[in-house]
Amino acid sequence: MQKQSKIFVTGHRGMVGSAIVRRLEAGGYTNVLTRTHAELDLLDQAAVHAFLAAEKPDYLFLAAAKVGGIQANNLYRADFLYQNLQMQANLIHGAHLAGVQRLMFLGSSCIYPRDCRQPIREDYLLTGPLEPTNEPYAIAKIAGIKMCESYNQQYGREYVSVMPTNLYGPNDNYDLANSHVLPALIRKAHEARLRGDTEYVVWGTGTPRREFLYVDDLADACVFLSEQSYNGALVNIGTGEDVTIRELAETVMRVVGFEGRVVYDQTKPDGTPRKLLDVGRLASLGWRAKTPLIEGIRKAYEAAPFRR
Ligand code: GDP
Repeated sequence: MQKQSKIFVTGHRGMVGSAIVRRLEAGGYTNVLTRTHAELDLLDQAAVHAFLAAEKPDYLFLAAAKVGGIQANNLYRADFLYQNLQMQANLIHGAHLAGVQRLMFLGSSCIYPRDCRQPIREDYLLTGPLEPTNEPYAIAKIAGIKMCESYNQQYGREYVSVMPTNLYGPNDNYDLANSHVLPALIRKAHEARLRGDTEYVVWGTGTPRREFLYVDDLADACVFLSEQSYNGALVNIGTGEDVTIRELAETVMRVVGFEGRVVYDQTKPDGTPRKLLDVGRLASLGWRAKTPLIEGIRKAYEAAPFRR
């Protein structure tokens, strides 16, 4: 990829897409192309194909997706399946028709089997049943990975799939019903402190383990891979370290300055017991995450929309 290459980033208003755009601009890329939802509806096949045929980008980052936390995934199962399948099919097939040789498809660590051996290596994909709460989303993302693989095999494309662990950072979704755990806890602890509450509520038992990556580190890894001309198989992107939800809840309290206690609402699901990625493949290419969890949480808290 060259500094003047035309790079189309989908989902540039979301947490991941906006971080990729920031990273590209900081890295001196001068021709970054974006479209708002109003300008280009990614669910509209004809519009997406026409756009790609006209623009012929040199590189495409597929950061647009319908995403959400455990509850949203579980409630809006049809929307998560349909919208993700449709967007990625439009973009990947449209890119191929337009002669786009290279792109990066972003998935998620929930594509791996629920009771997967830990840490999770890329080749554990499709070795067991999925976690039921986010199965529709995972099936869509697995289909996206298989599209990339298949276009590479049949047509000689260089479509790379990356699987980030749980992400957090600026432009995250802080809506308590639909968000992921980390933004939810930051907001709950903040509001509990402001109200002078003595406790804040965390879902589940507190025992599941999760790995968290600051989104600017993810963007750095994606741009790093695109610059390497890496065109091999699936790549996990994470820190290689995880914490329990209980430890996470306590770290968030420290950052936010809430001094009450944590109570667990066990009517809410725990989801997958553990989800730690093996990041050996990425490490062997020469990349490592830089932002420690507590520092990332501080930055995310500073940038949180409910504080502005
Ligand atoms: P997951 O990684 O796909 O399971 O998605 P989440 O980030 O939504 O949830 C991760 C874990 O955090 C699950 O065990 C949740 O039960 C737990 N959790 C604790 N409190 C919350 C909360 O307020 N919101 C969310 N989304 N999850 C929470």
